[in-house]
Amino acid sequence: MKNLRGEVALVTGAGSGIGQATAVALGAEGCRVAVTDIDPSAASATAALIRSTGGSASSWAYDVTDPDRGTELAQEIGRELGTVSILVNNAGIAVGGFFVDTSRESFDRVVSINLMGVAHGCRAFLPAMVESGRPGHVVNIASVLGQLGIRGVSAYCMTKFGVVGFSESLRAEMWTHGIGVSTICPGMIRTRIIDNGTLESSDPDLQRKRETIETLFRKRNFPPKKVARAVIRAIRKNKGVVPVAPEAWIAYYLKRWAPWISYRLVRRIG
Ligand code: NAD
Repeated sequence: MKNLRGEVALVTGAGSGIGQATAVALGAEGCRVAVTDIDPSAASATAALIRSTGGSASSWAYDVTDPDRGTELAQEIGRELGTVSILVNNAGIAVGGFFVDTSRESFDRVVSINLMGVAHGCRAFLPAMVESGRPGHVVNIASVLGQLGIRGVSAYCMTKFGVVGFSESLRAEMWTHGIGVSTICPGMIRTRIIDNGTLESSDPDLQRKRETIETLFRKRNFPPKKVARAVIRAIRKNKGVVPVAPEAWIAYYLKRWAPWISYRLVRRIG
């Protein structure tokens, strides 16, 4: 899709971080943005931000784990704005901790949001996109941890490896319909993901570990708007897998060209 002006774009989890920056960037491109989040006040604040700069945006409450709400929302948005032609499946949470310390509840929760949420989003909005016969684009936000399985994030890795595989297969299916599918692997991005996430461990010094991770993300200081720019480029150029920060590019090439180094590395990180 070369020109995004006038397209109807929906972003999940757009109340914060990468989702918010992406919604703002799509608004600046002239899209009519459907801003959605499980937190309706956060979604409404992002929509107000887009409108304050002259863009067009409305907000909806949407929990991506609820497939019925997805179907209902597709109809509501279809009536109000028209068929969604750009879908950004961004909503996600972080769950950290060694596998044996991760509770079943946390495991199920991260799978239902990060992995099944992407599938539910596609199921709700893709059929109308295909039926419209117009060009469209799906962006799935994955992670470097959808390529490298480091220690202490097995649940999160399961979801993000899943998103990478799902998106590759969907891309192969959708090209006959003129619909692109991009998978974004951001890197370490300065958002609220660590504050909002859960970390389970039998380590008595859990708080210190959490603070170390938070400091690492803060010091890395890579802004979400750079991810948003990569999303816009991915839609325009119909890119497949899109690493964003330098560490994401390193992981991408390591896995392809020197997998033996990556297997040694993952035993040390985390
Ligand atoms: P964030 O915590 O700043 O934002 C996540 C947003 O998702 C929040 O507004 C939250 O309310 C919303 N959300 C949570 N559960 C939801 C649900 N069930 N339904 C709908 N919305 C829900 O985090 P972020 O860093 O902006 O994360 C966005 C995406 O980027 C996630 O998929 C995450 O896995 C991915 N990602 C982030 C990083 C990073 O370093 N920040 C790196 C790689 C991938």
